[in-house]
Amino acid sequence: MNRHELSTEHEDLRVAVEEFARSEVAPVIGDFYERDAFPYEIIAKMGRMGLFGLPFPEEYGGMGGDYFALCLALEELARVDSSVAITLEAGVSLGAMPIFRFGTEEQRKTYLPKLCAGEALGAFGLTEPDGGSDAGATKTTARLEDGEWVINGTKSFITNSGTDITALVTVTAVTGRRDNGKPEISTILVPAGTPGFAVGQKYSKVGWNASDTNELVFEECRVPRPTSWASAGAGTRSS
Ligand SMILES: Cc1cc2nc3c(=O)[nH]c(=O)nc-3n(C[C@H](O)[C@H](O)[C@H](O)COP(=O)(O)OP(=O)(O)OC[C@H]3O[C@@H](n4cnc5c(N)ncnc54)[C@H](O)[C@@H]3O)c2cc1C
Repeated sequence: MNRHELSTEHEDLRVAVEEFARSEVAPVIGDFYERDAFPYEIIAKMGRMGLFGLPFPEEYGGMGGDYFALCLALEELARVDSSVAITLEAGVSLGAMPIFRFGTEEQRKTYLPKLCAGEALGAFGLTEPDGGSDAGATKTTARLEDGEWVINGTKSFITNSGTDITALVTVTAVTGRRDNGKPEISTILVPAGTPGFAVGQKYSKVGWNASDTNELVFEECRVPRPTSWASAGAGTRSS
């Protein structure tokens, strides 16, 4: 699509993010790369611009926009720096979107306003030491005990999972076996700071150095099974 075909709203957003990336990100981001540090102040400014809430409804603190708007913002940020772009992309698509689409109403009301404001970050933990592309190879397990999921396993390369403002990680775990013998894999929301959930090594990467990527370890980590999960997105099991 040519630039002149953008709607006024989309073009205004694109110009605002282009200007932000040029004037606020470009001059300082190199220093964060040198230090392998997370650019909290830049992320906070992106939050105040509404970028983390772009595709979410206003009732949850979002901007009521669409995914195309998010793509425009990501493109302009990534022209200058892919670390802040992936922080936004993972925060929205991996952190907040699963809660919006498949979470319970209580989870949406608890987490989305802060995630949309960029005051908190969510993460999604699928990849493991022995399973990335092949999600079916997941070895992390979760068993139900006294109304709680008890999670054990390790996740690798999880973006936004160890920052000072990380509020939660949604993890995939084997919760049973299907009739055809294949594993049943569920997604479970684990609030940051839950006992038994530890942020392991922070990766030293060859790029995206100002983004946050960590190993996560779950040892007998217990989270309550929401009583209302059945009312969440149809055909999913998200707890
Ligand atoms: C900076 C960074 C951030 C990340 N953030 C997250 C995150 O937030 N959450 C998360 O869950 N994961 C995250 N990941 C992990 C990423 O999603 C995985 O690295 C990816 O899924 C690949 O998995 P893998 O590394 O185990 O490689 P593998 O799955 O072992 O693949 C290795 C190679 O084999 C190829 N391959 C694999 N299977 C097939 C096949 N069936 N046919 C043909 N070729 C195949 C792949 O294309 C690849 O080239 C991140 C990774 C990085 C580097």
